[in-house]
Amino acid sequence: MSESLATVSYIGAIILFILSLGGLSNPESSRRGNLYGMIGMTIAVLATVFGPRVSMAGIPWIIGAMVVGGSIGLYAARKVQMTQMPELVAMMHSLVGLAACLVGFANYIDPIAALNLSSAEKAIHEIEVYLGILIGAVTFAGSLIAFGKLSGKIGGKPLLLPGRHFLNLIGLLVVIVFGWQFLHAETISAGMFALTVMTVIALLFGMHMVLAIGGADMPVVVSMLNSYSGWAAAATGFMLNNDLLIVTGALVGSSGAILSYIMCRAMNRNFISVIAGGFGTGGGKPAKKADGEAQPAGEVVSINALETAELLREAKSVIIVPGYGMAVAQAQHTVFEITQVLREKGVNVRFGIHPVAGRMPGHMNVLLAEAKVPYDIVMEMDEINADFPDTDVAIVIGANDIVNPAAQEVPDSPIAGMPVLEVWKAKTSIMMKRSMATGYAGVDNPLFYKENNRMLFGDAKKMLDEVLTALKA
Ligand code: NDP
Repeated sequence: MSESLATVSYIGAIILFILSLGGLSNPESSRRGNLYGMIGMTIAVLATVFGPRVSMAGIPWIIGAMVVGGSIGLYAARKVQMTQMPELVAMMHSLVGLAACLVGFANYIDPIAALNLSSAEKAIHEIEVYLGILIGAVTFAGSLIAFGKLSGKIGGKPLLLPGRHFLNLIGLLVVIVFGWQFLHAETISAGMFALTVMTVIALLFGMHMVLAIGGADMPVVVSMLNSYSGWAAAATGFMLNNDLLIVTGALVGSSGAILSYIMCRAMNRNFISVIAGGFGTGGGKPAKKADGEAQPAGEVVSINALETAELLREAKSVIIVPGYGMAVAQAQHTVFEITQVLREKGVNVRFGIHPVAGRMPGHMNVLLAEAKVPYDIVMEMDEINADFPDTDVAIVIGANDIVNPAAQEVPDSPIAGMPVLEVWKAKTSIMMKRSMATGYAGVDNPLFYKENNRMLFGDAKKMLDEVLTALKA
């Protein structure tokens, strides 16, 4: 493929990536957005592999690597459950970071890369290598810890080392000093030493950064690492002199940064405070587990599926609040069937979606779209929160943190200040979950004990099937 055809293909791929991002901003156009992205990526890969910068001798190696990588990716994508998607995404972010590190080291020791460069060009190239590895290592280590936290292999409780800000500052200073040494290194081995020290510090910083973040702030971390992976890809693009990678990385990096900002706003958090860690700890007060001691006072009133169906049948307006448990139980199709039955009976049914419900941005919207719930009855939190006082029944399906009144009522709660769906303001709220356990943030939920709240204990799918049968009877 000629240089000019490769350039035209790259421009086409970039346009498709931009259209893809635009499409993903709305559930109705998201399928089209995905399609644009897939076509763009196919063009990008073909133009790179068969482009002027890859020799014929290199093609079998690339195809071999693509077969191995593609098979692993295909296997993982087919095997992974919808509820494990965030972990898979975190894992993929870590691979982008790892790639940036490996390309950086390879670039530095490659004798051809620095050939024919003027001293200014050489300095710029080395800065690219240093920054590329720095961003890559932070992304790699941070994403691995995020994977551990999201999959439950590492506890959600933040690790707060004494003097952690001081430690971060020392780390930053060491990185700057070794950066200077790297740029002035006389030999490759001296440069490698500086690079290795910086990489170790960047890895430790990445781990520390994510370990210090509280459970309730994980959505911000996920979108932030998404952004970092974009910048790591852009850095790789600079090192490899590949314009497409630079633009694509910048698109991912900036859209991830915007998403992090939106997430912070949705949770009423300050971005800098989240990054600095320690949020989601309630000022150091550990989140209590619902396994006995120190729970909110009051009586828990349980209800069965028949009684739930009765309440729903008599209601004029119902708001359904789905959460992570609906995804675990894969109950979205039954939820839709119940919605249809109730709407046929003239009940005004709507959905209230919290921005951080589930375990990834847009998680609930994806599930409801999959079940074919009409978009016009799916409302954002801000659109529906004021309607709870005029609602007969608010039914919470496998959600917990996003409906926790402690966010408003308990000033030193780890989730204090986080906007929540105010289901307790409905005439009756019904909470469907399997036990009294806490949600992801590990915070007890006073909603269980409210006078107008009823608990429907059991697996969401099983319970909803029973409710549906009772409604149809
Ligand atoms: P939560 O994790 O707060 O609560 C989910 C509840 O679902 C649990 O309390 C659990 O209770 C219940 N549950 C689990 N399985 C089932 C089942 N099979 N049937 C019925 N219930 C079930 O989820 P929310 O959606 O309310 O809140 C999301 C949380 O995740 C927030 O803290 C958010 O910060 C965090 N988060 C969000 C991300 C995002 O991007 N959206 C990313 C990372 C974290 P029980 O065990 O008793 O059944």
